[in-house]
Amino acid sequence: MDLVVRTPRFPSPGETLIGLGFQTFAGGKGANQAAAIGKLGGKCSLLAKVGKDSFGQALIASLIQAGVNTENVIEDPHEATGVAIITVDQSGQNTIVVAPGTNALLTPEEVQVGFLDATFDVVLAQLEIPLEAVLAASQFSDARKFILNPAPARDLPNELLQRVDYLTPNETETQILTGIYPSDPTSCREAAQVLLRKGVKNVLITLGAKGSYLCNIEGEKHFPSIKVQPVDTTAAGDAFNGAFAWFLASGKPVFDAIRLANITGALCTTKMGAQASMPSLSEVQAWF
Ligand code: ADP
Repeated sequence: MDLVVRTPRFPSPGETLIGLGFQTFAGGKGANQAAAIGKLGGKCSLLAKVGKDSFGQALIASLIQAGVNTENVIEDPHEATGVAIITVDQSGQNTIVVAPGTNALLTPEEVQVGFLDATFDVVLAQLEIPLEAVLAASQFSDARKFILNPAPARDLPNELLQRVDYLTPNETETQILTGIYPSDPTSCREAAQVLLRKGVKNVLITLGAKGSYLCNIEGEKHFPSIKVQPVDTTAAGDAFNGAFAWFLASGKPVFDAIRLANITGALCTTKMGAQASMPSLSEVQAWF
């Protein structure tokens, strides 16, 4: 849950400052990506953990409203739901403190249980849960497609990268993972090669307004995005990832899934919020 307060300026240590307004927003990368799929009319189940508290209840309600199956969202009675405490000053800069809470407690065993009897075509994971849980998800994905959105970025073992069908870093995550900022075709290719050499099958870098870039052993391709007037870029990457996973799962050819994901990411930037700004299938199709 994102807890956002606007302030005239940031407080100094020890200072109490009166803020200008307080809002809560349902967030979390996994939840946002699931909500993106739900809003597109896709079928998805979120495997995650919240606390047995009011934020946990509100997050589950938001997912159900978006059309997400929440049977695999575990409620932990002993730990608080993960929150991000965000302050935004008048110039629009922010400071963010994340308290992972239950997100840090999702275990490989719980992931295993979630996968029992599950039927699925694609597994999409992020890094706001423990690496061991992500590794478990990659193992249980078996012959299905495993997409890893490496956000927030961190060092990843080759054991995990070798199981990834599509790795979807944004520009800064690409730099953290490879040491190369993907600013032009050459640096995109160089960064992707680093990841392909580590065993990733397809590298799909999101480039903000410039769209996205796919590279694998067969070749490379740049996919321009559509032109929009962004008002809030929060969760564009989550919209892209959810859409890509869903369109791939629903049988679209990869290039079409990427084009549709670009449109979903772009349309997400035209509305305020994270889960609230995910577009519907008809809105996306109108641009395709
Ligand atoms: P993140 O939110 O993780 O930083 P990006 O900014 O790369 O991710 O955005 C994800 C995708 O959303 C991009 O690949 C692109 O398709 C689309 N997108 C994001 N911002 C814009 C924009 N200003 N105009 C058009 N498309 C955008």
